[in-house]
Amino acid sequence: MYTEVTLKTDLSHLSDKQRKMVGIMIEVAEIMDGLFWRQSYGDKDALLSKIKDPDTRRFAELNYGPWDRLNNNEPFISGYNAKPDVAQFYPEDMTKEELASAPAAIRDQYTMVTRDADGKLKAIPYHVYFKDEIEKAAKKLEEAAGLAEDAGLKNYLTKRAKALRTDEYFESDLAWMDMKSNKIDLVVGPIEHYEDKVANYKTAFEAYVLIKDTAWSKRLEKYAAMLPELQAGIPVDAAYKKEKPGTDSDLNAYDVIYYAGDCNAGSKTIAINLPNDEKVQLQKGTRRLQLKNAMRAKFDKILVPLSDMLIDESQRKHITFDAFFANTMFHEVAHGLGIKNTINGKGLVKTALKEKSSPIEEGKADILGLYMIGELLKKGELDGNIRDYYVTFVAGIFRSVRFGAASAHGQANMLRFQAFVDSGAIVRDTEKGTWRVDFDKMPAAVEALSAKILKLQGDGDYDAVKAWFKAKGEMPQTLKDDLNRLAKAGIPRDIYFKQGREVLGL
Ligand code: ZN
Repeated sequence: MYTEVTLKTDLSHLSDKQRKMVGIMIEVAEIMDGLFWRQSYGDKDALLSKIKDPDTRRFAELNYGPWDRLNNNEPFISGYNAKPDVAQFYPEDMTKEELASAPAAIRDQYTMVTRDADGKLKAIPYHVYFKDEIEKAAKKLEEAAGLAEDAGLKNYLTKRAKALRTDEYFESDLAWMDMKSNKIDLVVGPIEHYEDKVANYKTAFEAYVLIKDTAWSKRLEKYAAMLPELQAGIPVDAAYKKEKPGTDSDLNAYDVIYYAGDCNAGSKTIAINLPNDEKVQLQKGTRRLQLKNAMRAKFDKILVPLSDMLIDESQRKHITFDAFFANTMFHEVAHGLGIKNTINGKGLVKTALKEKSSPIEEGKADILGLYMIGELLKKGELDGNIRDYYVTFVAGIFRSVRFGAASAHGQANMLRFQAFVDSGAIVRDTEKGTWRVDFDKMPAAVEALSAKILKLQGDGDYDAVKAWFKAKGEMPQTLKDDLNRLAKAGIPRDIYFKQGREVLGL
């Protein structure tokens, strides 16, 4: 199911101080890893020490618990029930209704929720609940800041240490946005909302240690400047694109040298778009980080062999790394487009669409990214053949739907796949069991799906979104059969990492 990839990059251009700093960052990441275990499962050592079979133990490590993240979180160790939607963020017996009517602190993204002596829900801030580890991590961040030669990085690491101690991340997010010239980067803290399956309120701890690829970053620079122009062109009524995307956003390529916590659990992200705080986004935009070494590994080890089985032979020549890279890159750009607030007074899109907000936002980014590629090709701002982007995109859907409905990306992919089937943009050859893109129908299908999602978000129409998932979120049998063929052929669904100081020679 997983294939091993060694996370490496050239560190020869780093100074001794920088190498030392990278080592400390990895130690901080290891602390985040432990915190994520506690948020997701509970006692890591107690679980792992009772698993005798080494492969099963390794599998539990990759999943941060006894549930298979690539298979709808089914338990793979006997004696365990389904993964609780509350994870460890809330008491297991809490209901959605109880959560909805609880005081705001209970729903705060930086609190763990327990019950007090009277059985009432009680919020404990992360920096209190995880006090010892947080203090350790903050001290190490300050130590790393002392070694930082880049002023922006020094400022960010110092502020991030403070943020961990207070659960106030705003200033450190701004400092992270202001970093431009640093070669080394660290994404660290409680960040994404996916692990809270009840309401996507709580943030999960994670860390990425990153080395910037300056050559590739130059290629990406020009697209950031085009965000406002791209926003004006998206295929939806003016009311749904009236917000100005941040123009200070930047897009850079990195090699990752360490994944920890949330981002290391189950399927691995190959691109990051942060920060998530809308206040920061409106003020400064976002930074989009393309994780090139991880992307290349997935392309070589998964996408190419998968295409050799599922894509029509005549279209396999259109599977290219450049298209895969661009599709992923424009997914991230597309997160910055559209709107964050509903147009009818329902507040933030994220709040209005509740637990469906993440899959819908991911779906938006995917389809709008592809739409933009088409537009940029027409304008002559991007090289390549639209057919490469389309076919590689469809192969990418097959790669992603294998993650199942448990991940936001997996659900979004299912809706998109069904939309393409319904519009005739993709067609299955029943004899060969392969799929091909109908190049004439694809452009209209992309535009229609983009418009549909942008409108649902702007309207904050939770009921319509829910109905859509109900009607089209199930995987059809033919697709299940196709995916089973991939599994039988031993084509991995995802990668896991051999990573750390030793691998890097630090
Ligand atoms: Zn995304």
